[in-house]
Amino acid sequence: MGCIFCEIAEKKRQARIIYEDDLTVAFEDINPQAPVHALVVPKKHISTSLELTDEDNALIGHIFQVANRIARTKGIAERGFRLVMNCNPEAGQTVFHIHLHILGGRFMQWPPG
Ligand code: AMP
Ligand code: ZN
Repeated sequence: MGCIFCEIAEKKRQARIIYEDDLTVAFEDINPQAPVHALVVPKKHISTSLELTDEDNALIGHIFQVANRIARTKGIAERGFRLVMNCNPEAGQTVFHIHLHILGGRFMQWPPG
């Protein structure tokens, strides 16, 4: 079975890419849940956050730095934004290649649904 986020990272599937470097790609979510909704994805395939190893520690830090950069670029950093990584079905994970959601541009409820 193919992985859609590997395909986007490899440019085999189209996406609205907003940032890219050696380790990550970030793109607009196809079904946005807020005025700003982007995903930061490592180019390395990791199916869920439970599969992270010590080898990935720097990568995870880098994913957060990329999210901060996008929040600033999109003008939501000071207002506030939410970073979410869903793990496994009950949390709502539907794509099994880890991704950090960046959501902003509207008031966020807590607790999440
Ligand atoms: P999750 O439910 O946390 O696994 O998040 C998966 C996210 O990927 C959802 O918000 C989807 O809207 C988004 N998504 C699925 N396919 C694509 C795609 N081809 N391009 C952009 N976003 C996608
Ligand atoms: Zn993948």
